[in-house]
Amino acid sequence: MQFGEHMVDQSDWRLRGQAKYLKGVALQWRVYKQFAPHWDHDHCEFCWAKFMDRDLANVLREGYVTLDGDRWICSQCYDDFKEMFEWNVQTPK
Ligand SMILES: [Zn+2]
Repeated sequence: MQFGEHMVDQSDWRLRGQAKYLKGVALQWRVYKQFAPHWDHDHCEFCWAKFMDRDLANVLREGYVTLDGDRWICSQCYDDFKEMFEWNVQTPK
């Protein structure tokens, strides 16, 4: 069997049961904004990459997020898992 370069399967190290709450959900591409004084970052639900709205090394400034702003997914993990999770990406109006 031939696998593409970005094919992932259920044994991928980033999978920890996210399908229970992230499968088929709606996502939006957003610039990360700190929304509470004591909550200055979030992590990618899959690879744990850090999202912040500051210019720091190894920090992501934008990514995919659930519509409630709760769960962030980096673009690499989005690309790797979009077939598996069947996300519904919405464009902001
Ligand atoms: Zn990620």
